[in-house]
Amino acid sequence: MKKLILIFLVSLSFSGISQNTYLHCGKLIDTQRGKVLKEMTVVVSNDKIISVEKGYIPIRNPEDVVIDLKTKTAMPGLIDMHVHIEHETNPKRYLQKYTLNDADVAFSSLGFAKATLNAGFTTVRDLGGTGVNISLRNAINSGKVNGPRIFTAGKSIATTGGHADPTNGSRKELMGDPGPKEGVVNSVGDAKKAVRQRYKNGADCIKITATGGVLSVAKSGTNPQFTVEEVKAICETAKDYGMHVAAHAHGDEGMQRAIIGGVKTIEHGTLMSEETMELMKTHDAYYVPTITAGKEVEGKAKIKGFYPDIVVPKALAIGPQIQETFAKAYEKGVGIAFGTDAGVFKHGENGKEFGFMVEAGMPAIETIQSATITNAKILEMEDEIGQIKAGFIADIVATNDDPTQNISTMEAIVFVMKDGEIYKK
Ligand SMILES: [Zn+2]
Repeated sequence: MKKLILIFLVSLSFSGISQNTYLHCGKLIDTQRGKVLKEMTVVVSNDKIISVEKGYIPIRNPEDVVIDLKTKTAMPGLIDMHVHIEHETNPKRYLQKYTLNDADVAFSSLGFAKATLNAGFTTVRDLGGTGVNISLRNAINSGKVNGPRIFTAGKSIATTGGHADPTNGSRKELMGDPGPKEGVVNSVGDAKKAVRQRYKNGADCIKITATGGVLSVAKSGTNPQFTVEEVKAICETAKDYGMHVAAHAHGDEGMQRAIIGGVKTIEHGTLMSEETMELMKTHDAYYVPTITAGKEVEGKAKIKGFYPDIVVPKALAIGPQIQETFAKAYEKGVGIAFGTDAGVFKHGENGKEFGFMVEAGMPAIETIQSATITNAKILEMEDEIGQIKAGFIADIVATNDDPTQNISTMEAIVFVMKDGEIYKK
């Protein structure tokens, strides 16, 4: 009897190791070649893709599992280069800065992370919060909670009174004088210190607010807010620590300073001139459009009391312009990195961006390539994510329709696998 139990246990543990998952995909998007393949099988073992084969391959061992996606279109897990996973827009948002503790932020961020993953985004770059985003990344990586793979900037870096100065709009006693530790810099020395502090805190990348912004309690949404020397100091220091720099920018002058200073991505890019588009190309910088955020803030600005009065005119002026700028930049051949600014609107609605990009003239297949291979390259993970290919991490999502025929299907992801584990079926 003892022997029998032993054999049973041994065979159980073996089957645990050798159990593979066979995904039978009616259509499969080859993001590298920009093609939609028909009737394919993807074999997943543990957290990796071990083979991608033509036809519906039957299982090879009795323990193996088949997932039937014959009526679906499978593609690599999507990557959003611009989210704020800690928060979500609401009329109390400005007050919550003073009422919520980190633990409150952490608990609500769990729901946002889950919504993001369920929407098919298996990897995101978080471009600024309080620092709870770093703990959330760690909790997800260690398997304590569910959510996308997060690359986070921790707290954004601004200048005094700039877009990400955390005490903008406060009464004097609460304003204090935040410095590099809090992400506020006013010199080359401060700039270096702020980057090193973020590295110490555990950030993966750096975010700067190169110009004014829409949602801050400040007058200008477009003025330049860093000197070229400050941006250079930030980018050079970040490079020393293996981090790239993302720059929020609406106005053209601040955008140019950021690009010359060495940032990798320009976020929003609202008033980008043709000259700046050329500059982007020569400096190998990518444009992260966030069209969805632009449209959403414009809509919210029309609801009385949703934003403070000082924000409303900025939202109405800047919000609707992004899509047009994106159309021009795409046409001019600027590198496009998919990103939405989710958090400024509801988490989990990131897929709307695809439709807006297509509407502006980018072919559907290229929008998906932007959200997979392009973003994987910026994150220096191009050999691990962004493709369904043997040896890659098993991040696979699926839609009901073929997005090259119907792009709105990207807003309703029906299957999500991350690291070989199924989260939505
Ligand atoms: Zn943002």
